[in-house]
Amino acid sequence: MPKYVYRFSEGDKDQKDLLGGKGANLAEMTKLGLPVPPGFTITTDACRAYLRDGAVPDELAVQVTKALREVEEELRRELGAASDPLLVSVRSGAKFSMPGMMETVLNIGLNDASVEGLAAASGDERFAWDSYRRLIQMFGKTVLDIEGEHFSAALEAKKVSCGVTLDYELDVVALRELVEEYKAVVREHAGIEFPQDPRTQLDMATEAVFRSWNTERAHIYRRREKIPHDLGTAVNVCTMVFGNMGDTSGTGVCFTRDPSTGRAGVYGDYLVNAQGEDVVAGIRNTLSLADLERLDKTSYDELRAIMRKLETHYRDLCDIEFTIERGKLWLLQTRVGKRTAAAAFRVATQLVDEKLITTDEALFRVNGAQLTQLMFPQFGPSQGRDLLTKAMPASPGAAVGYIAFDNVEAQERAAAGDPVILVRRETNPDDLSGMVAAVGVLTARGGKTSHAAVVARGMGKTCVCGAEALEIDAEARTLRVVGREEVLGSNDKIAIDGTTGEVFLGEVPVVDSPVMTYLRRGLDEALALTEDADTRELLVAVDRLMTHADKVRDLQVRANADTPDDARHAIQRGAQGVGLCRTEHMFLGERKQFVQNLILAATDEERVSALDALLPLQKSDFVQMLETMDGKPMTIRLIDPPLHEFLPDLTELSVKVALGRERGDLDPADEHLLAVVRKSHESNPMLGLRGVRLLLTMPGLIELQVRAVAEAAVERLKAGGDPRPEIMVPLIGSVRELQMARERVEKVLTQVSAESGYELAFPIGCMIELPRAAVTSAHVAEEADFFSFGTNDLTQTTWGFSRDDVESSFVGHYIDDGIFGTSPFESIDVDGVGGMVRLGVEGGRSTKPNMKLGVCGEHGGDPESIAFFHQAGLDYVSCSPFRVPVARLEAGRAAVLAAIED
Ligand code: PEP
Ligand code: MG
Repeated sequence: MPKYVYRFSEGDKDQKDLLGGKGANLAEMTKLGLPVPPGFTITTDACRAYLRDGAVPDELAVQVTKALREVEEELRRELGAASDPLLVSVRSGAKFSMPGMMETVLNIGLNDASVEGLAAASGDERFAWDSYRRLIQMFGKTVLDIEGEHFSAALEAKKVSCGVTLDYELDVVALRELVEEYKAVVREHAGIEFPQDPRTQLDMATEAVFRSWNTERAHIYRRREKIPHDLGTAVNVCTMVFGNMGDTSGTGVCFTRDPSTGRAGVYGDYLVNAQGEDVVAGIRNTLSLADLERLDKTSYDELRAIMRKLETHYRDLCDIEFTIERGKLWLLQTRVGKRTAAAAFRVATQLVDEKLITTDEALFRVNGAQLTQLMFPQFGPSQGRDLLTKAMPASPGAAVGYIAFDNVEAQERAAAGDPVILVRRETNPDDLSGMVAAVGVLTARGGKTSHAAVVARGMGKTCVCGAEALEIDAEARTLRVVGREEVLGSNDKIAIDGTTGEVFLGEVPVVDSPVMTYLRRGLDEALALTEDADTRELLVAVDRLMTHADKVRDLQVRANADTPDDARHAIQRGAQGVGLCRTEHMFLGERKQFVQNLILAATDEERVSALDALLPLQKSDFVQMLETMDGKPMTIRLIDPPLHEFLPDLTELSVKVALGRERGDLDPADEHLLAVVRKSHESNPMLGLRGVRLLLTMPGLIELQVRAVAEAAVERLKAGGDPRPEIMVPLIGSVRELQMARERVEKVLTQVSAESGYELAFPIGCMIELPRAAVTSAHVAEEADFFSFGTNDLTQTTWGFSRDDVESSFVGHYIDDGIFGTSPFESIDVDGVGGMVRLGVEGGRSTKPNMKLGVCGEHGGDPESIAFFHQAGLDYVSCSPFRVPVARLEAGRAAVLAAIED
């Protein structure tokens, strides 16, 4: 019989797949002897079985009974008993924390009888009835899918009729009435009586957690976070402890370091006389840990000692949920805490300095996505800004957008291409799709641990929260700021600064972030520009980890650069060469005409004159780029795209010619052009006359391009430079194609050598971007000095689909259906396209053991793909200049990971 239920005392932190993150960590804390309320975890296996069969496995009920009885025996209380009842919480807990799912039902076990038992045992009747009404409310919402509004409306009405404003001012009589009213809500909207049997409550809540795995918002969250849809969630059943038993009780969340800035020193929020969801919901403003120290020194000291113990044990920043019940501290959850990108870098290096982790490990604690975030621009200097208000900086960055008051508005406007800031009083899991669509999130209520803040940080989205000066009317779609006249609406833009908490009216210009300044200009210059201690520590941390990555990585990092400007950007960011210069990009804009002349040339003279016009232009670009790349390799790819990219659109030109004919003012040049466009029209141009096929069939093209490279190199040599061009032939399918192209390339090099007196022996290689080239790579290598994997085309040709067509049609569906984990154009499809790459590597090296191998498709800058390219044994990755630092960091991480796994 599969084991579906584990007591907290049975598992440990390494069992996240089976017990979920929360369950594994509860088990670990129990193992460490920390004060965790007794309980058990229902495994993800049970959830998967439920999702597969549509029913809870039979054995589960039996195992739950056994575990529950053990807990009951340990505590000498029974679930939902009429006297001194045991109550439990039911919480979802997947392998990865997922705010998109059902979270928690508290107080399971309360019913009309046990509520009296709880009142007697606690000596607090009000508390007992308040707990009962909370159970019905949470159970109704999360298990029975009743709109929360029905319960809040009843609660508000009760407060009005009692003449009070705050929930806790309701007395026992009012709460008893409210319980009856809540039961009526359940009856009316779910069509059943609120279940009085405690075990039924427990089983229904468990099943609801399983079901919540497949809610729409859980899907949205997983898609965004690239979490597989088939993991399932675990369910944690934990003895209730109460933070709402009066002023010596309370509940809180704390972090062993500040997860927002990364500052060393503990950080947390605490609420007196409250239950867990009150803190996270951000409904009441919270106290700090320093306040807790004043209120309850004993619990505070114990908590500090536990925080230190957990951080030492996990060797990382931990976040912890705790409850104090009448002066007794309990831990409800811990995990390695989510953190901002800046905090990730700072905490990693702090832990190295504290000798808790090695620098290799520190490198593994940060990633390319976090570095990317630190590279985003920030708001410029402050003059001329119109500050609306300042609140809690909850997730850093700078975001400017139109105000969106709800999810639908945020999604619609974002889909139409407008940046939006989602502005809400507070957010809850239903707001997830709006948060995904928005560039930033602004709330009027809640602290750094509110839902908005936690989720935004997880997404790397700018967030400012707790802006109490905002008066938001979501129905009327208006936003006012206390003390100001104007009424803002959906057509107004605001700017939010998640690093300072400032909210501005209108657009605010953005500038380079300090990390970007560091990457472009070095540490000294970046440090000279800022006095801020947090920023300075961050810059030093980034520099240390980048330096370490550069030291340990095996992969070189080159850039895809088509212009002298690109090349400069790439060098600034640490590129070690150019892995792909797409020469066709040098023929766009005004130069397109010259290519058109070449295509239209009817005689040899016309062709030669068109080529002569192109030569100096191409040569001067190469001179500049080779100068920037002096001493570094620069892979120059001969022209690749189909001809239609240089010609006018067939339909537009047809219309123009037809109209000209009708009006009698037809330009004969247009007529000729139309004939050529028609003749060269292809149904699938990307699979047609392009790449080496075009080079071999269009006289003079190879010669023009190679001469431009060779003459540019000679010019650089004459100037005392060290030009290192490498000539690359695209879209090879057969070795014979490469052989023919190579002969022509070599002929020109020999000619220019003879003319100039300089020896020009540049490497000649090819792209591997067709399956045939990969499969026959051992032969192709006979003619190639190097290979560069063109994983963009290789993905299209291996799958047999075109990126332009499929990305907008079915890639999204395929991700939802689990056919793709992520888009194969973003992260390499390791099994399929990756298999082609491996074939290419094997074939190439079997012919030439030291052959230089690289990748120049988009995947060269993708963190997950870089790890694969490292494993596949490539020499370098090449990516856009902006992603070069990310690739450097990820190449370092890949090397460290490989060393750990060895
Ligand atoms: C590729 O196919 O991966 C490649 C780099 O070439 P392009 O994107 O220019 O087709
Ligand atoms: Mg290609």
